[in-house]
Amino acid sequence: MADVHSKEQRRFNMQQIKGKHTKPEMLLRKYLHAQGFRYKLHDNTLPGKPDLVLPKYKTVIFIHGCFWHGHENCKYFTIPKTRTQWWTEKINKNIANDVKVMKLLKKDGWKMITTWECGLKPAKFDKTLSSLLKKL
Ligand SMILES: [Zn+2]
Repeated sequence: MADVHSKEQRRFNMQQIKGKHTKPEMLLRKYLHAQGFRYKLHDNTLPGKPDLVLPKYKTVIFIHGCFWHGHENCKYFTIPKTRTQWWTEKINKNIANDVKVMKLLKKDGWKMITTWECGLKPAKFDKTLSSLLKKL
């Protein structure tokens, strides 16, 4: 029993910590929910564990951090000046994985929408949302 509790406590703690970093994602989720969209979160039965899955629309939404997923021509994506090669390899690996995931999802007939974190900043939020809704 004690173990179950500590597990739950740990999960709760993780969510608290993660929550701080996923605020834009929360905003997006809230908005979609208010618009009547229903979704599953981080569905690990699908390749790449998409951030949002809208089964009714056979659509998945990825919310990509600009740095970790190498957002091209984005000011939030700059390879650090130290350990440059290590970072480059790491991020290239992430990008290659994203490509692989997209192929698998496409093969299964999923529609994919990638949203970049920079697009969820307050100044761009509305524009990003309306283009996202158009794709659904
Ligand atoms: Zn970006």
